[in-house]
Amino acid sequence: MDCLFCKIVNGEIPSSKVYEDDTVLAFNDINPEAPVHILLIPKTHITSMAEINGENSIVVAHIFEVAAQIAREKGFADGFRVVSNCGDSAGQTVKHLHFHLMAGRDFGWPAG
Ligand code: AMP
Ligand code: ZN
Repeated sequence: MDCLFCKIVNGEIPSSKVYEDDTVLAFNDINPEAPVHILLIPKTHITSMAEINGENSIVVAHIFEVAAQIAREKGFADGFRVVSNCGDSAGQTVKHLHFHLMAGRDFGWPAG
């Protein structure tokens, strides 16, 4: 499968890793929208949030645990945003489930 984030998981494409374990990888976004902009992904291929189900949701729970741990360890637990774009109309450009973890500036509520 020609998936950018699967290639990052298997090392074919390099990334700036922030955290890794058996099931989850976190790395810096190549085009940051905030001073801190980390992407958290499951190592297994899940296309988007629309594919989350009872079989695979345990890795999503773990991703949120890791996001909170990163926020505490990096000292921004008092203010951050987590976003997952699902589908073309929401602006999902990479079709491998990912959560944007952003911090380091104030965020407005999306107008569009
Ligand atoms: P989305 O538009 O929600 O699908 O998010 C995809 C994100 O992946 C964007 O914020 C991109 O900047 C980011 N991105 C694309 N290619 C890479 C890469 N090679 N390494 C790190 N982040 C990437
Ligand atoms: Zn993938």
